[in-house]
Amino acid sequence: MTNATSHNLFSFIYRHITDWNTPFLHFSNADILTYADMLKRSAQYANCLVSLGVKPGDRVAAQVEKSPDALFLYLGCLRAGGVFLPLNMGYKDKELAYFITDAEPALVACTSARKDALEEIIGASGFGRVETFDQSGDGSLIEIADGSDLDFEDLHREEDDLAAILYTSGTTGRSKGAMLTHKNLSSNAQTLVEYWQFTSKDILLHALPIFHTHGLFVATNTVLCSGGSMIFQSRFDVEDVLNALPRATCMMGVPTFYTRLLASPQLTRDLVSHIRVFISGSAPLSPETHKYFEQQTGQAILERYGMTETSMNTSNPFGGERRASTVGFPLPGIEIRIANIESGEILATNDVGVIEIRGPNVFKGYWRMPEKTAEEFRNDGFFISGDLGFIDKRGYLSIVGRNKDLIISGGFNIYPAEVENALDAINGIIESAVIGVPHPDFGEGVTAVVVSEDERTLTVDNIRTALGDDLANYKLPKRVFFVDALPRNKMGKIQKNQLREKFQTAYQA
Ligand code: AMP
Repeated sequence: MTNATSHNLFSFIYRHITDWNTPFLHFSNADILTYADMLKRSAQYANCLVSLGVKPGDRVAAQVEKSPDALFLYLGCLRAGGVFLPLNMGYKDKELAYFITDAEPALVACTSARKDALEEIIGASGFGRVETFDQSGDGSLIEIADGSDLDFEDLHREEDDLAAILYTSGTTGRSKGAMLTHKNLSSNAQTLVEYWQFTSKDILLHALPIFHTHGLFVATNTVLCSGGSMIFQSRFDVEDVLNALPRATCMMGVPTFYTRLLASPQLTRDLVSHIRVFISGSAPLSPETHKYFEQQTGQAILERYGMTETSMNTSNPFGGERRASTVGFPLPGIEIRIANIESGEILATNDVGVIEIRGPNVFKGYWRMPEKTAEEFRNDGFFISGDLGFIDKRGYLSIVGRNKDLIISGGFNIYPAEVENALDAINGIIESAVIGVPHPDFGEGVTAVVVSEDERTLTVDNIRTALGDDLANYKLPKRVFFVDALPRNKMGKIQKNQLREKFQTAYQA
C-alpha cells in the first residue's frame, strides 16, 4: 500500500508503475523478478526494518554485495522512512569505523565475514545493531525479511525528509555525508526519464556498483520511474556485458566500461545496432573513446555530468548533437553558472571558472557539518561544485579540471590527502604526494611520489600491502616513485602540477 500524497520516493515510484507484471530485474541467466515481486519483497524488507526498531529518519547502513535483495533492502528502507546509507564493499575496518561513528545508524547490514569487525565498531560506539546479509541469500537480515509480511503501508515523507546519505571523499581525508532528500532523488529521476526518453519498454544493462549515486540513483531510480527493466549484473565483466547487450536497449557506464568494450573485437555495429542509447559519466570520457566508439559501433556515447551531492546536473542531448569533451546542457529545471572561485563574480561565455549549480536536485547539506555546508553554498543558493569548466556559445558545458586534487580512477573518487596520510604513517616514509596521471584503462592511475629514508626496503608491493589494511583497494597507488625531495612553492605547498607533468607518461606502454 502506498500513500497518494506522500513525497516518499517509493510512493513516487509506485505512482509511475502501470503494469505490475512487467519484468523489473533480469538476473543470473534466465531468472526474472517482476514489479509485483519488487513490491512484495521491498515490503518484506520494510516490515523487517520496522521490526528491528528502525524508525523514520534512522540511518540504515549497508555494506553488502550487489544483488536483487540489496536493491529491495534499499527500497524497503525508503518505504519504512529510513535513511539509506550504502557503503563501498571495499572499505576496510578503519574506514567503516569513521562512517558508523559519524552516521550512528540504527542498523548495519553486512556480510557474515564483516560481522565481528562491525559489531566491535558498533559496540564501541554504543548504538545500533548488526545483521548479516550475504550474496548467497543467507544472513540474519534476509531470514527476518523472508518471514515478514508481504504488505506494507509506506510511511508518509515530506519533500525535505532524508532518503539517503552518501559519503563523498573529504579533501582532508575526512569523508562528508551528503544528505539527499526524497525530493532531490524523485525530481532527478523524473527529469532523466524525460530527457533520456526512458519508457517501460527499456531494458537497461546495469553493471555498475550500487553503493554509488551512479548505479543506485541514476540507473535504478530512472528505470523504476519509467517502469522499465534492468539486466542486473553483479559487476562489470566484458564478456558478460557483450553477451547481454543483444537483450538490452540501453546501458549506463563509467568511461572505463567503454574503453574495455572497445578493446574487444566482439564489439561490432551489428551487436549494438538496436541499442537506444549508451550513457557515460562519473569521470571524463576522452574524445578518442567517444570517436572510436562511434567509428566502431555507429553510436555516439551520450555524456552527462553529476555528482553525489547533486545527482545529475547536465547532459548531452538525446536528440541533438552529442559533443565529445562536453557534458552538454543543464537539465530542465536546473541552473548552471560559471563563477570566479574567489570573488563569486559570474563569468562570461567561454571563461573558465567554478561550476555552480542550483535546483531541486541539489542536496540538503553535509551530515552534521553545518559550517562545511555553508562554505560550499553561495548566498543565493548555488552549490559550489569544485569542478572547473566553461560554457561555450552554443550552451554546452565542458569540464576542464577540478580545483581540488581529486583523482578519479575507474570512476571511483580518491582524495590524495587520505592516501598521503596513510603513506606518511609507514615507517621509513618521510613525506609523500599522491597524484592522478593518465592511465589507459582507469582514466587516471593513483600514483605516489615518496621521499623515503630507505628505498631499498620499501617497494611498491610492501607499500601497497601496508596501505591495504586500512584503505580500499581502488585507493592504493598503482605506481610509487621515490624522489629526493618534493617540489614546493614559496609558501611550502607541494607543486602537484609539476609532479603530474613529470610522471604523466607513467602508464604509457
Ligand atoms: P561522484 O560524487 O563520485 O559522483 O563524483 C563526482 C565528480 O566526478 C564530479 O564532481 C566531477 O569531478 C566528476 N565527473 C562526473 N561526471 C563527469 C564527466 N562526465 N566528466 C568529467 N568529470 C565528471
